Amino acid sequence: MTSLSDEFQQVGRDLYAAGLVSSHGGNMSVRQGEGLIVTSHGSRLGHLADGDLVEVRPGSEPRAEPSMDLALHQAIYAAASEAEAVVHAHPRHAIALSLVGKEIRPQDLEGQHYLGVVPVVPRDEDVAQTLADALRQHKIVVVAGHGSYARGESLWQALQWTSVLEESAEVLWLLRALRQNT
Ligand SMILES: [Zn+2]
Repeated sequence: MTSLSDEFQQVGRDLYAAGLVSSHGGNMSVRQGEGLIVTSHGSRLGHLADGDLVEVRPGSEPRAEPSMDLALHQAIYAAASEAEAVVHAHPRHAIALSLVGKEIRPQDLEGQHYLGVVPVVPRDEDVAQTLADALRQHKIVVVAGHGSYARGESLWQALQWTSVLEESAEVLWLLRALRQNT
């Protein structure tokens, strides 16, 4: 558990330091057999301690209150067999773009190489299933006006897709500004 806890803490610190989440925003989980370990409700990803990680197993009561996004994480693990870890963040340029389009198409090399097209799914009552289905085909998906959900082999990999997406979204943003001014 120690190294997994270290991974949660280091990835959480990086997410916060990179401005990919607000002080109490975002959440993360790792698949554990039939269950998962998820950050607790209201935890600060930039300052996670061991007590902020909640183990959720079928048929047993968790020891602390898990993230409000627990059902989304569970839907993702059920739908996407590749998902060993999930990172949910609030990358601001990607969120802005998600409010004006049905997908985000990176124009920079890294975004094109790693992500291709990033779908945007609506924030409605079916979001858990729509999101989980989209994550079968894609490494990262944006819920419109809310944030990104990335799946990876590890939290580090899910962090990578999140930071690649935000860099691509910022480049798209700059490109729009340049085109308007030239
Ligand atoms: Zn959120």
